[in-house]
Amino acid sequence: MIEMKNVQKTYPNGVSAVKGLNVKIQSGEFVYVVGPSGAGKSTFIKMMYREEKPTSGTITINGRDIANIKDRKVPLLRRDIGVIFQDFKLLNNLTVFENIAFALEVTEEKPQAIKKKVMEVLELVGLKHKVRMFPNELSGGEQQRVAIARSIVRSPKLVIADEPTGNLDPDTSWEIMKIFEEINSLGTTVIMATHNKDIVNTLQHRVIAIEGGLIVRDEQKGEYGYEL
Ligand code: ADP
Ligand code: ADP
Repeated sequence: MIEMKNVQKTYPNGVSAVKGLNVKIQSGEFVYVVGPSGAGKSTFIKMMYREEKPTSGTITINGRDIANIKDRKVPLLRRDIGVIFQDFKLLNNLTVFENIAFALEVTEEKPQAIKKKVMEVLELVGLKHKVRMFPNELSGGEQQRVAIARSIVRSPKLVIADEPTGNLDPDTSWEIMKIFEEINSLGTTVIMATHNKDIVNTLQHRVIAIEGGLIVRDEQKGEYGYEL
């Protein structure tokens, strides 16, 4: 599904964040991306949804070279990828319903179809009863559930999460992980950068460790491998 070949990224300020990545990720996999701060995890992940463009190399997603598509094609690419962040990135002036429906509106669906899809994803994340609330009326864990619902409402085949439990307490983090497990079990590929040692070592999946812009370890059912 995803293949990176000789991918390098040097930021305009001269920082070489990624120094030559070669990796293949199959459809349906669950992959943790681990490594120290500044290792290049976010850069690795951002290049998959074209938030950053590699300086050299190729990134193929479902046969499409996304490193070299035109900027105007990027929104189309992003439609097929769900992205989740540590800080949720919800729109605070919109309700839960509107935050999720917003992701569908560009697809020009009818109001009834939008409503049905929004309620379906809210059901999956267990938040149907909060549909009319605003983000600031919700706990951090609930806000992250809304962000997950928004990310999957267009049924993407790929979900990318950058430290989705980074702002959450341990119990809430486990609840959020159950949702990612569920999404993955329904066939969606999940790629997640995380510093959560307990989660990586307990809910075992493939682990890709990045240090200094290089993949230093890549194991099926791997361990977190760092102290914190
Ligand atoms: P991680 O996610 O593992 O913490 P990042 O990919 O965020 O690592 O960062 C890798 C390196 O690239 C770090 O040295 C960081 O300071 C640098 N970096 C990240 N983003 C930018 C940017 N937009 N401009 C310049 N340097 C950046
Ligand atoms: P349920 O509500 O269905 O009992 P839990 O939230 O208790 O599910 O746990 C879901 C999964 O995460 C289980 O495999 C459980 O063992 C694991 N888990 C939950 N909390 C922790 C924790 N604090 N430490 C380690 N594993 C945990």
